[in-house]
Amino acid sequence: MSRIDDYVPVAGASEVEELRLLAARLEGKTIRNVNSTAVGGGVAEILTRMLPLLKELGVDARWDVIKGNERFFAVTKNMHNALHGMDVPVTGDDLDFFVDVNRRNAAEMDLASDILFIHDPQPIALVERKGDLGGKWIWRCHIDFTDPRPEIWAFLKGYIERYDGAVFSAPAFSRPLSVRQVLISPSIDPLSDKNRDLGEDEIDRVCAGYGIDRGRPIVTQISRFDYLKDPVGVIKAYRMVKEHMDCQLVLAGGGATDDPEGLRVLDEVKREAEGDPDVLVLFLPPASDIEINALQRASSVVLQKSLKEGFGLTVAEALWKAKPVIASAVGGIPLQIAHKYSGILTRTVEGAAFWIKQLLQEPEYARKLGVNGREHIRANYLITRHIRDYLLLFLSLYFEKDVIRL
Ligand code: UDP
Repeated sequence: MSRIDDYVPVAGASEVEELRLLAARLEGKTIRNVNSTAVGGGVAEILTRMLPLLKELGVDARWDVIKGNERFFAVTKNMHNALHGMDVPVTGDDLDFFVDVNRRNAAEMDLASDILFIHDPQPIALVERKGDLGGKWIWRCHIDFTDPRPEIWAFLKGYIERYDGAVFSAPAFSRPLSVRQVLISPSIDPLSDKNRDLGEDEIDRVCAGYGIDRGRPIVTQISRFDYLKDPVGVIKAYRMVKEHMDCQLVLAGGGATDDPEGLRVLDEVKREAEGDPDVLVLFLPPASDIEINALQRASSVVLQKSLKEGFGLTVAEALWKAKPVIASAVGGIPLQIAHKYSGILTRTVEGAAFWIKQLLQEPEYARKLGVNGREHIRANYLITRHIRDYLLLFLSLYFEKDVIRL
């Protein structure tokens, strides 16, 4: 496990010292994170790395996961899709059931804390206990809120406005709310197995294990198998490229315990890929960090063709490895990529195909994009900056009168 001082060489001594000073101010305060999965997806990824560091800094940070059955996660996935603008049914019955499961969790969990940091919609109704438990309640939203279906937004808003504040990942997600809103982007951990430097031998070993030929171009997308990551669109783009030049496509990802749609999407992707030995569809088990790291590092080009994206940790992970990234101009992705400077932004299958060809044909240009991308991530999206933003947010809750409302 990494120690806070290990971050000095990458983030700088003053940044690490600042974390110590801020954390000391939170002495005696309990901060409880609650989300809906311990494995899979960006939130679990961040909390797994951040909690031990917060604890080392002396912050009493905890993490609990709400419990739900199959129906609950089917409802929350529909809510998730509806919040991303998809026309999926979420009935009054579903919402009653959703609230019911939240209430059962609230009754069973030990929620007593100074600060409750509730992640994403699944546990949002725990805030009903704010009145009897007290404490400061913050809702942390990791999802893309550019175009939510109005009914589901209205339902959620009723809960968000019971919190003391809401945190969004990108300015584009800010919406009219009666409570304070804060912008804090996510981050990656440069020292985790997912992102640390790897030797060429380790990369070779992983690629050989999957039958990937490192002597030919490799185009990769790493993502949960989710419609919103558009894996089928990735295969279509690859096919357009393949008419003109040789390359392999790797689509790798696992599921998350709070995402029941994964296997259905995986089946669709496998059908689409059938018959082409150069398309490798990998269903990864949890804790495939070194494998993901190696696949990203082995790639000639990394894609993230999401239709919606809260932030897209996979983009930051690939840029950190100085890879040329072609990603959709949606959600939080444009925070990470300045088009033609630190990567490529596109919106269509044709656009993705065009740019894959360009970058495979112009490796020097592709290399420059990657180098710029890495520096952008280093300066803005490492875990140390993220911890600092959270500590400042927590502290600000105790200095409300000094907050200037715009
Ligand atoms: N990830 C993983 N295994 C997988 C697929 C994804 O560990 O099979 C990781 C990925 O490397 C990234 C995170 O899960 O760190 C996904 O975060 P992102 O913001 O890209 O998307 P989300 O899944 O939260 O929508």
